[in-house]
Order: sequence, then C-alpha cells, then structure tokens
Amino acid sequence: MNLSITIIPSKSLMVIRATLISFFTIVILGVSACSPSNQQTADLILTNAKIYTVDSMNTWAEAVAIKEGKFIYVGTEQNVGAFIGPQTKTYDLKEAMVLPGIIDAHTHPGSIAIRDNYDSTKKSGYPNMPYPASKEEILAWLENYSKKNPDLEMIVAGVWQIDTFGLTGPIKEDLDQVVPDRPVFLLDDTGHSKWVNSAFFRKFGIDKNTPDPAPGVSIFSRKPDGEPAGWLKEAAVMPWFSERDYMAPDQPQLVENLFRVLSHLSKHGVTLLYDGGNSGAEDKVYAAVKKLDDTDRLPLRYEGTYHIRLPEQVPIAISELKRLRSEYSGDRLKFNTIKIHYDGVHEVRTSAIFEPYSDDPENRGNTTFSGEVLTDFILELHEEKIDLHLHTNSDRSAHIALNAVENARNIIGKPLDTRVSTCHLELIHEDDISRFRELDVPANFTLHWNGIGYLTGWEKPIGAERAARRFSIQALIDDGATVSYSSDTTGMTRLYRTSPFFSMQVGHNRQEVGAAPDSEILPPVNERLSLEDIIHGYTKGSAYQLRYEDKLGSIEVGKIADLVILDQNLFDINRYNINEITPTAVILGGEIIQGILR
Ligand SMILES: [Zn+2]
Repeated sequence: MNLSITIIPSKSLMVIRATLISFFTIVILGVSACSPSNQQTADLILTNAKIYTVDSMNTWAEAVAIKEGKFIYVGTEQNVGAFIGPQTKTYDLKEAMVLPGIIDAHTHPGSIAIRDNYDSTKKSGYPNMPYPASKEEILAWLENYSKKNPDLEMIVAGVWQIDTFGLTGPIKEDLDQVVPDRPVFLLDDTGHSKWVNSAFFRKFGIDKNTPDPAPGVSIFSRKPDGEPAGWLKEAAVMPWFSERDYMAPDQPQLVENLFRVLSHLSKHGVTLLYDGGNSGAEDKVYAAVKKLDDTDRLPLRYEGTYHIRLPEQVPIAISELKRLRSEYSGDRLKFNTIKIHYDGVHEVRTSAIFEPYSDDPENRGNTTFSGEVLTDFILELHEEKIDLHLHTNSDRSAHIALNAVENARNIIGKPLDTRVSTCHLELIHEDDISRFRELDVPANFTLHWNGIGYLTGWEKPIGAERAARRFSIQALIDDGATVSYSSDTTGMTRLYRTSPFFSMQVGHNRQEVGAAPDSEILPPVNERLSLEDIIHGYTKGSAYQLRYEDKLGSIEVGKIADLVILDQNLFDINRYNINEITPTAVILGGEIIQGILR
C-alpha cells in the first residue's frame, strides 16, 4: 500500500485543514485506491485534472477512475494507474477543473417549452405582446391581434409588466372595449397574475357568488358588490382553466422544445434537475420528457413533480404523484417530490408576510391552506416516503411551514421520513434562521435574482427596511442549514439565465451580469457568497434536497459518476467573467453526454 498521497485542499481552507486532510486522505484513499483486491479495472479514467470533489473536506484530487457509471477511485495521478485495463479509456485533462455534476433543484423546463409556442401551432399559441408596454400599447396590440385572428375562440397572450397597474390591478372593462365577444386571458411577467375580460368570466360562469379558491392568495380582484373586476391572482382560475395546458403546442413540437431547453441546461453542466411544477400541464410535459427518455435523448436526470396550487388538490396529490410515476418514469425521469405553492409573491402582494405590505396596510397575504392541513399532509408523506417542496416566499409562510414540520416531528417522535424543503425565502424571520438546521429543512434559492435591476416591482410592497434584508442566504449557511440553488426559469427568452455559471456570478457579486464592477451591490453586501459555498449548494446541497445525497453531489468512491469538466478554473477567473465559463464536457453516469474529451 502506497501512502504517499498528495491531495490539495481547497485554497481558502488550506492552512486550517492541512493536518486533518493528510490524515483523512490516507484513511479514505487507503481503502479505495490502494487495495484493488478484486483487481477492478476502470471503463474510464480522467487524469491530470484539478478535481474539486466537494467531499466533506472539499478535497482536491488529480484523477478519477469510473466503472459501470460509478467512481471506483478518486485521488492522485500516481495511483490511478492501478485501475487501467486493456479496455480502459484514459484522458489527460491538461489540468482542467472538474466539478461534480451540477444540480438545479428547482426550475421549469415544461413551462419554458410551452411558452416558446408563440404562433407556431394551429392553436392560438402564446403571442408576444409588446414589452414593457403601457396599458394603451397593450390594448392597441390586442385590438390588432384580435382582428387578424377572427377564428380564435379565445385569446391567450402575454406578458404585461406587473407594476403597470396600481394596487387595484387591471380591469376587465379595458379589455371589453377592444374584445367584447371572445374570452381574453393575458399573463403578467411574474406568472403570478392574469388579466381577463367579461367574456372570460361568462364562459366559465365565474361571478360575484364564486368564492376565491384560496382566500388571500388565489383570488379574484372584486368590485364593491363582489363582482370579479378582471385581475386574477395566482391560481384563482385553475379550477376552470389551465393556461399552460391550453398553450402547449402539439406533442412533437413540445418534445423538440423540451429537448432544446434540456440540452441548454446539460451543456451548461446540469446533470440533475427538479421540475418546480407545471400548473395543470403535467401530463403533456411528462409525456414529452418520457418520449425523450425512451429515445435516449434525455440529456440529464429529471425529477418530476405533482404541483399543488389550490387546497382542493391536497387530497389527491399523493395518488396523482404515484400515477405520474407509474405512467412516465424511465431511466432518467423519476418522481419522488410533491410541490406546493404555499403562498404567492410580494409583487402581487400574495405572499404570507408577518407585517402588512408597506403600501397595502390591510393585507398580509396568506398561505394556500392552514398549517394544520400542512401538518396532516406531511404526516401522510412520511408514511409514503414521498418528499415535499414548498414555495414559501415570505417570512410568515416559511414560519408556518417550519411549524408544520416541527409539529409532524413531535407527533411521530423522531425525524421524518419525508424531506420537506422550502424555496424562494425572500424574507425569513430572524428567529426562524436556526430552525432550518434544527428541523432539517433545506432552503433553496435562485441566485440569479440577487443582482440589482433584474426583478422589478418588489421594493414598493415590502418597503426599504425589508428590501434591504432579502435573501438571508449567508445567515443560513453560517448556521449550518442545508442550502441548495436553482434557476427557477419559466420562459425561453430567459433560457440564458438557467446556466449555473450565470447564477454563480450573480450570487458571488450581487450584481447583475454585465453590470460594471463599481456598480451598486444588492444589499446586504455581506451576502456576497463565496464560490465554495455556491458550489456546495449547487452540488451537495441540491443532492440533499432531492434525497440523492448517497448517490450524487460529490466526487467520491461509490457515487454515480456525474461530473463537469470546465474550460476555466472557477477559482482563478475574474469574478465578473464567471458567467462565461462553459463546460468542455459533461459526463452523466460515466458517459460523455455533452462535449468531447481528447
Ligand atoms: Zn418555480
């Protein structure tokens, strides 16, 4: 056994950890590398690389050996030779940086693929309104579009900017003046609200006697007498109409759109994603993903979901997830997590917030259903070993969700057999920070939102004091919570933002990509995250959220060989050029899925 193993520790931790590392690497590699008693030979060996393993010590390695899709050796150049056999392919990476496969733990490939429909299909598609645009410009566009498409039974289009209208939102009469006879449904740019005309309400029989599907969240704006005024918040219309299901192109087109989206993610290093939901278009989207999986065109691992937006979906959610699992699962497409839209967004004033909205003092938003219902649902998920992902955008929804997890744990008397994660978390009450660690609730963040100027319309609702403490990611990391990352993107025009390297740059700088280095930094400045922490969240943290921690998330012996080979070293590159990093190759389960190795 050769113990002269050199492992290079993470730069920033080198001094502190040097002693420990030499001890641990001897132990770890002594087992895996130096005693191939069964004379294992590798299918694939990568040497002369700078491999950032994201193991528990953030060890750097020089070489890996892969057999049947798993790592059988991680360590030095010198010792990998023991795994070379006659069939082994060996590549010299010429000191390229290697990361574990990147895990995007919440995004929406189905929505992106659907929203790329435009006019390309027989149906109305998803025509693009001018953007940004005034109310008058939108109405002029609508009039023109309506005249050009006299045969359409319904006009579905987008998008209007959320802060075009005041607190009362847009009204149906404005649309009625232009299109009185056919239903009109216009989406906003957050995806959280819609603007409809009177014909739309008539078609679906929605009137002043129709209750709000989820009071405080999924609601109809109303006139004083209760009549729906024309602005629909969140999933108010979902019992009658799913715009994503309606907008979806025919299946061959959807398959190709999805392939484009997933290939983009894969080329940028994503090897596993969690689908954050499809709002009623589940079957169309998963039939298309399955088609890619069945024809060996699915370039990454894909965790599908059942998406709860309204209380009435809770009783059927587990059986629906099981149905999706049995109908669509394949080699790379799996289903183990249910998603709940547990509140809304600040922009639409539908997030459940502790203190009222700054510009709407009667309103604290709401959760989609009570904490008691959530506790009971978590207990059911525990029995089924199914996981849960909660959209908890604000401090009060996050607090209620944490309480529900705590209550469920107390009832069971031990840690739960369902993993409950939360996402967005724009605001967290300071007393709740440590509860994410204590209750084992992963916190997912979308780092490309953390620059100045990309998201609009959120400052007014929450006011300056709360705006200055959005996204307390560092506080959670410092406390020891599991933090994961995601691109949470829903439109093809924003596909470029799904690159993890785009998000890494914004999360590292808290400035938008392209902003001058001396431009304003989104406060608080101490929330500029380290690259070590960002990589950890995008690999190990996300693997943990999705319950893949034993299989994925780091480059260690026994784990599945998903990895990304970069054209530049993340730790050497200028912090304003991280976005430009492109993988030269991506390996999925030991197979080169993108790029080439020479
Ligand atoms: Zn989402």
